[in-house]
Amino acid sequence: MNPKTVAISLVAVVAVMAAVIIVTNLVPRNVADAEEAGPSEVPLRLLGPDGELAPAQNAARLHLNEDEWSKKLTSDQYYILRKAGTERAGTGALLKNKAEGLYVCAACSLPLFDSNTKFESGTGWPSFHTPVAKENVLDKKDVTLGMVRIENVCARCGGHLGHVFSDGPQPTGLRYCMNSESLRFVAKTDLKAEGEKMAKELEKEKSMPKVGDRLPEPELDAELAAATGEATAIFAGGCFWCTEAVFENVDGVTDVVSGYIGGKVKNPSYEAVCTGTTGHAEAIRLKYDPSKVTYGQLLRIHFATHNPTELNKQGPDKGTQYRTALFPTDDEQKNVAAAYIKQLDAAGEFSKSIATTIEPNDTFYVAEEYHQDFANNNPVHGYIRQVSDPKVKKLKEKFPEFLK
Ligand SMILES: [Zn+2]
Repeated sequence: MNPKTVAISLVAVVAVMAAVIIVTNLVPRNVADAEEAGPSEVPLRLLGPDGELAPAQNAARLHLNEDEWSKKLTSDQYYILRKAGTERAGTGALLKNKAEGLYVCAACSLPLFDSNTKFESGTGWPSFHTPVAKENVLDKKDVTLGMVRIENVCARCGGHLGHVFSDGPQPTGLRYCMNSESLRFVAKTDLKAEGEKMAKELEKEKSMPKVGDRLPEPELDAELAAATGEATAIFAGGCFWCTEAVFENVDGVTDVVSGYIGGKVKNPSYEAVCTGTTGHAEAIRLKYDPSKVTYGQLLRIHFATHNPTELNKQGPDKGTQYRTALFPTDDEQKNVAAAYIKQLDAAGEFSKSIATTIEPNDTFYVAEEYHQDFANNNPVHGYIRQVSDPKVKKLKEKFPEFLK
């Protein structure tokens, strides 16, 4: 190769590398993709109500959907924390901050770095030599931009923080190169108030079980039937206006009827069931074509669109009539249902164990005419807007492959 050819080849190689860098930079990664497989609880060192870092203890990871994150964060924070972006060097608000205190995650408030480990690196990004706790700042391999780097993510929310390099000062020799936007600074004098706020937030989270997003497929399921046919499934999961609205949209479901099942009296009225004394659950009876959709797939949608960890209540509705329950119509359904509950519990898909009962296939009493198709007929009803519509929206977003 003559020198000219070498020069041209080099230019070509550099151009390709630059293109790769530009392209990978323009297509931000979705932080959530890597997160879904992780455990729901991890060891964390949280700020206690005394303003001190508490010992490591298992705590729930903070799971929000992208919609919720984009509302909670500013657009810059969202781009960096959720899309693994990088702020421009020298622009971060915390870059020159020298005050004493704690740097916490801007998304979830987990303590990340103490001000006494911050140093001037000259890079244009806030730099630290030691995380406040090894549990809180996680290392992850990052192979974007055509190089292998160690990325740091927040252990509680999975948010992208920055990268760590081995050219830092002692005692670690490491340089945690952070995005200012990923951090929030809490001055030393405010740590106690911050710890108290965190304790309150955790208490609130505990009382609000996480609802599975896009649950895994059932490991045990009926096979899709070879020929068109009709099968029946009966589910209870709170107010039947909502469960009916969800399944009206599912492909292969040919009919959905609202009614009552599992109680002691014959032909109960809505008023009687509402007292909670008849023992009935508000339920829906689905007719479906087993050559188009399986019982297990219907179960998966049902568990993802109501909260199966709530005992004898569902959202704002309280009483045994709003219990979560399945009424299998044959042994195969019964086995699939039992196996799926076991599977979801074992995988820790919900932050509490599943409360759904499997009950005998009792007489299903069709509810009064005005309850049928309620959501479709009353689209501006306050309850439908607040409780039912989000469930239907979730179905459409999370399970597009099952839509009519
Ligand atoms: Zn976080």
